[in-house]
Order: sequence, then structure tokens, then C-alpha cells
Amino acid sequence: MKCPHCERTERQNKAGRTVSGRQRYRCMYCQRKYTPNPKPQGYPPELRYKAIQMYVDGLNYRRVARHLGVSHQTVYDWVKKYAEDLPPVPRPEQVHKTEQAEHLKRSKSHRENGACRTA
Ligand SMILES: [Zn+2]
Repeated sequence: MKCPHCERTERQNKAGRTVSGRQRYRCMYCQRKYTPNPKPQGYPPELRYKAIQMYVDGLNYRRVARHLGVSHQTVYDWVKKYAEDLPPVPRPEQVHKTEQAEHLKRSKSHRENGACRTA
């Protein structure tokens, strides 16, 4: 433990707990009490953004997770949250696929009708 006031790491004694239940310490050098900052919650937004970008680029959860050194559950949660935040519009590739299917159907019926015969 390191005192935030004098930055010493020796002789840091426990001094009870705060109302929120966090461990408090007392520095025996400067006699001040302090509560160490908890670890920052979660991951930096850049990492989260990167994970989503990689997923959108076609990597699966596990590959993204392995690449970024986080758990695949974390990646899954990020992507899920990201998808929930998106407005409910069809994704571009789905629209594209539908158009392609329509096109195939049309050209198929053309052939069946003999309209495309070039002989
Ligand atoms: Zn101190």
C-alpha cells in the first residue's frame, strides 16, 4: 500500500473501514488516513471500441478476446450493448442480400421464359 500524501509504501497500517465498506489505511510516517482508490472500473473506451470494430470486421468473440487480452464474455457484453444502442434499422448487408435474392429470382424466371436465349 502506498501513502498518497508522502508516497511511502512502508508502515501503512489498516485503520478501519469507510461507510461504504472500503478499507482505510493510516500512514505511520505522516499520520494521515486515506482510502486507496479502487481499480478503475472496466476497460478503457478505446479498447471497447476496438473490440467492436474487430467484431464488425468479421472476427468472432473468441478471436477478438484473444487479440485484445480480455475474456470473450467481456467482448460479448460489449457487442451486445453496442447492438442494443443501435437504432432498429436493417443492417446494410441484409438489405443487400435481399436485393441480390430478388435479382436472382428475376433472372431465373427470365431464363425459364426463354427471354434470355441468345441462340
Ligand atoms: Zn504518508
